[in-house]
Amino acid sequence: MDNRKLISLIVPCYNEEAALPLFYEEAAKVLSALDYDYELLLINDGSKDGTLDVMKRLAAADPHLKYLSFSRNFGKESAMYAGFCNAKGDYVAVMDADLQDPPSLLPRMLEILETGEYDSVATRRVTRKGEPPVRSWFARLYYKIINRISDTDIVDGARDFRLMKREMVDTIVSMGEYNRFSKGIFGWVGFKTYWLPFENVERVAGETKWSFWKLARYGMDGITNFSQAPLMVASRLGFLMTFLAALWLIFIIVRKLIFGDPVAGWASTICVISFIGGLQLFFLGIIGEYIAKIYLETKHRPHYIVSETNDPDAEKIR
Ligand code: UDP
Ligand code: MG
Repeated sequence: MDNRKLISLIVPCYNEEAALPLFYEEAAKVLSALDYDYELLLINDGSKDGTLDVMKRLAAADPHLKYLSFSRNFGKESAMYAGFCNAKGDYVAVMDADLQDPPSLLPRMLEILETGEYDSVATRRVTRKGEPPVRSWFARLYYKIINRISDTDIVDGARDFRLMKREMVDTIVSMGEYNRFSKGIFGWVGFKTYWLPFENVERVAGETKWSFWKLARYGMDGITNFSQAPLMVASRLGFLMTFLAALWLIFIIVRKLIFGDPVAGWASTICVISFIGGLQLFFLGIIGEYIAKIYLETKHRPHYIVSETNDPDAEKIR
């Protein structure tokens, strides 16, 4: 056994048969040139194409490569969690399979960690080149909102691509929440993080797994997981409206006492009733979002189920 430090590289893969061989070539080149021992942890997140076959083929030729194959698609968050739970490295990195997270940044990231000043090196895209403008616009707006209403710092343009020390990985593994939003979790656990900016790169092959709506849904999860502000809006607005309604009531009673029968106000009444009804439904919906989360958390279902792996020590369910 060599006694060099071990790097674990976690790669969540969903339908990446086209990109994975290209990724592997690039990553193996960078990793083998380093003065570290390494393991490549490929997570097959229930792909419907030949991703698993590609993994098996690569693993047969390279002892550094381990794969965990899920019994179905559990989502990138679960894939990353499975990686963290099974990574043995002193340093652990997460990286996309499409080369949008350049492996060539790894040596620089390791250098920064080795100075001992930081516990993690995270990456941030400084451009969103090659992305639809509408998507960029919504993304910017989203980061503004979530940073204002949550107490965790979530950096605009932050990628999940980062390199961490063992201590930080252990804390992330210990956070066993079912609804995971890694960008928030990384920030929440704290530790000293160095932000490494880089230019956006387009994926080498295959296509994005995130539609606009899937991203929007994920963004909502980020907000409800790391902020109670939407719930507070309901109570504050409710308080304000009750207060205004009380004033209005006094006004109507006084007017009735002084001027007799008030003017018929059917239309305005309906307006007010439907406005308030709408607001109530809206906030019921927000409360529902949180209750749904609580419901899922209390069921304690596993985050992932591995149905096939070449690692006999793998934790197959967690
Ligand atoms: N991914 C995954 N499970 C999913 C969706 C995506 O493991 O359900 C992986 C995917 O294979 C890729 C990474 O997550 O390695 C990022 O996905 P993608 O490149 O499609 O997202 P984008 O870069 O377009 O935001
Ligand atoms: Mg991508």
